[in-house]
Amino acid sequence: MAGLRPWRLLSNKEEKTLPTVITHSAVAVASAKVFGPEEVPNRFWLLSVFCAVIPDADVLAFSFGIPYDHFFGHRGFFHSSFFGLLLSVFLVSVFFRTEKTFSRRWWFYLIYFSLLSASHGILDAFTNGGLGIALLSPFDATRYFFPWRPILVSPIAFARFLSKWGLMTLKSELFWIWLPLIIVLIGSSLIRCEQTRETRRAGDQTPQPKANSR
Ligand SMILES: [Zn+2]
Repeated sequence: MAGLRPWRLLSNKEEKTLPTVITHSAVAVASAKVFGPEEVPNRFWLLSVFCAVIPDADVLAFSFGIPYDHFFGHRGFFHSSFFGLLLSVFLVSVFFRTEKTFSRRWWFYLIYFSLLSASHGILDAFTNGGLGIALLSPFDATRYFFPWRPILVSPIAFARFLSKWGLMTLKSELFWIWLPLIIVLIGSSLIRCEQTRETRRAGDQTPQPKANSR
């Protein structure tokens, strides 16, 4: 993958890190707001957040003695785009089974949930610590980071999250992720407002049929 470089040697291989769950959830909510159709069921929002945060459930691998750099280790297969696609197929099949397969809405859900799941690994690849991300797993086990990594990595342990490190992480995520999200949200709502206004204007200009015309 052009522009990416494998990153296997770390300053502290034992450190277990991730961006905050809150920030991944914020990405999900913003994406749902920007890309979601007008009328969506409540589960659309819940599943959006689920897709964006679930890859980090792989931290449980540490409890089972699975090493960080293992195929199923933290930031491994479950952070890949392929896993995102599998997850999306499962979610759409179970939670949106009333949608006609291959219909426009069905494709939207499939692509949307896939990309949202993939966004997790991509965001992690911008962090400055931990192991790289197996973005192309299972086809390529290389752990990748982007060459530019401005986001301060967050500690996994809750106690450490309340430390100065945790606060610095929040600051970094607020600047590099939350601020762009807010700008995109404002831009998107302005565009939607303008579209609604234009639709209304077009409706007003449409000639109304006369009540008694034959
Ligand atoms: Zn992660």
